[in-house]
Amino acid sequence: MSEPSEPNEAASRAEPSPDRRRWSRRWGLWALLVALLLGLLSTLVWLAGRYESSQVQSRLEQDAVQTTTDIRAALTRNVQGIQALQASSPDPAAWRVPASALLHEHREMLRLEWRDAALAPVSYAQTPYRPSVFERLGRASAQTDVSFACAAARRFSGPAYSSSYFLPQADGLGLEVLDMCLPVLAGGQLTGYLLATYSLQEILSELVGRQLARGHGLAFTEADGTRLAMYGNPARGNRGYVAQQLLDLPGNTMVLRMERQLGTPALFPNLLTALVAAMSLALVAVLALLGRDMRRRLKVEHDLADALAFRKAMEDSLVTGMRARDLQGRVTYVNPAFCQMVGLEAGELLKHGTPPPYWPPEQVEEYEQRQARRLAVGATLPREGFESVFMRRDGSRFPVLIIEAPLINAVGKQTGWMTAILDVSEQRRVEELSRASQDRLQATARLATVGEMASLLSHELNQPLAAISSYATGSLNLLQSAVAGEPQPPDNQDLQLAMRRIAEQAERAGKVIKSVHDFVRRRDQVREPVTPRALLDAVLPLVSLQARKLGVRVLIQVDESCAPVLCDRTMVEQVLLNLARNGMQAMQSPDKSRRADRLLILRVRPAASNAHSRWVEFAVIDHGEGISEDVARQLFTPFFTTKAEGMGLGLSLCRTVIEQHGGFLGFAAGQPQGTIFTFTLPAAVTAVAVAEVSA
Ligand code: ADP
Repeated sequence: MSEPSEPNEAASRAEPSPDRRRWSRRWGLWALLVALLLGLLSTLVWLAGRYESSQVQSRLEQDAVQTTTDIRAALTRNVQGIQALQASSPDPAAWRVPASALLHEHREMLRLEWRDAALAPVSYAQTPYRPSVFERLGRASAQTDVSFACAAARRFSGPAYSSSYFLPQADGLGLEVLDMCLPVLAGGQLTGYLLATYSLQEILSELVGRQLARGHGLAFTEADGTRLAMYGNPARGNRGYVAQQLLDLPGNTMVLRMERQLGTPALFPNLLTALVAAMSLALVAVLALLGRDMRRRLKVEHDLADALAFRKAMEDSLVTGMRARDLQGRVTYVNPAFCQMVGLEAGELLKHGTPPPYWPPEQVEEYEQRQARRLAVGATLPREGFESVFMRRDGSRFPVLIIEAPLINAVGKQTGWMTAILDVSEQRRVEELSRASQDRLQATARLATVGEMASLLSHELNQPLAAISSYATGSLNLLQSAVAGEPQPPDNQDLQLAMRRIAEQAERAGKVIKSVHDFVRRRDQVREPVTPRALLDAVLPLVSLQARKLGVRVLIQVDESCAPVLCDRTMVEQVLLNLARNGMQAMQSPDKSRRADRLLILRVRPAASNAHSRWVEFAVIDHGEGISEDVARQLFTPFFTTKAEGMGLGLSLCRTVIEQHGGFLGFAAGQPQGTIFTFTLPAAVTAVAVAEVSA
């Protein structure tokens, strides 16, 4: 078993099934989509971050420019203040007062000095905010820087700044300072210098706008980045923004470094990036949801395909033809069984309009009317269906049983009709066969009865024939005596009487033969209204024949109010005859003394108490031995008999006949003994009425 499947497996390994290929393509597309989206989102986040940091950077740079401008402007204002000292009071002692005031006003200035043209000190003033900054090293330590600055100042004829230098302090700390030298000119002649010592740190803290300084780290650095003085919160490590700006002062250029810390968390430096990131996350979440939804859809799709395949297989395996029609009667669906039944392709059936190709042309008009009627009836079609005739492609007709039901869509609206169609030709054939064999059986049974009759007939005919023969002999004697020349002429009257008797007896014999002949020959199957009396009259000669032989008295009781019954009279006569014969045979007890009890009653009355009943009840009542339970169980079984010469077909045929008429055949024990066989037949009036109703 496993061997032949191997090449298949190999083939399926080499070439994936279309399902698998579709599956992997679908998932491939999804993976690509997810990857693209992730790429796009991370680029977006990165770009947003980049944009944000460039914004911050440029703002920082602007701030740095602003700061240097501020510092430069403040220093220039200070220069003017210092110049003003000289203009008003050239007296060294008096000079100190406004100089101290100026120092009081400007914290960034540590010391103001007045020097002569040879840079020898004339006067000086100290800042009130801290002890003398030159205490440790002495003012002379900075003499070189001062003379450089003043030389430059002389050259510029304006303020010049020295390079900065470090001043250790008594408290162990130190500070970076810078001198500004301003030449004092009187009438175009240099008369001395004014020196201002600035603390770099205080310049940052005092001269930079508070607003600007907030949140920034400010520092003066050397070209290599060494910090000289700083203020604020410098950035730690390299997580921050840095902007550098040159502070260009006459005689000195310093680098102002402005730093700004990165916000926390560093991954999302600001709202925009956070927003983009959040949106990306949402997008990814939506994507995940979509993916899950798709997975579910795929599963449902798969289940649906399974269910559909299952239904299709079921549909294809049906032997019942299925057909759907829309409300206009057009065929919208057919199953393979139906196609096979009518020998047409599904496509042909669907394309074909009305009338459909399987309607026999001669019936089209009738079927159209029927269809219109049925469609108009609405949803109240009977479930049991109806019979019809369809035509195959080759033109042959076949009987079908059609069961229709409304076709309801998902929203409960009727969109057409669903029909189940059964090909009943085989069933009809079997029925026909069984009917034919029934007929044959009945014919056989009747022939058997005829055989029986023949013996009775010979017995019965004996009497008239004997009578005829004796009358004939008598007549001959009369005639012979006349011929022999008897003196008296033959008695004409006697002769006439004898001849009449002969004729009567011959007629009687003829009747007997005719009744048998009638019974055997009459075979017209029609159902006709017959009065119960006529039925009894027809069987009576035959019943009487047997009754006489068996010594049975026959009593007829007919309720004259009974309506005629609708029946096949030959068959019903046979039933009556069978039952009567069975009854008479049952009374053949060997006990001769009970001869008086041998009474057979044939009774007819309406089945219910009222005279207008739809049914007429026939009863054959005997006073025989009755039916034991054992016999009763098999009574109607064909070929069951307790008689040596019996065939056992009588009762089973009787029941078939009565049931074919729609009636019922039953039996009950008689009182005090015997059996009552009863059967019912439809009264002709009601039968006509019923036929009308059903039409
Ligand atoms: P057959 O008369 O050829 O035996 P039937 O089918 O008419 O076949 O009857 C079957 C059997 O039913 C009879 O053999 C008999 O035993 C029993 N039977 C029928 N009618 C009566 C009756 N009226 N009384 C008693 N037994 C009966």
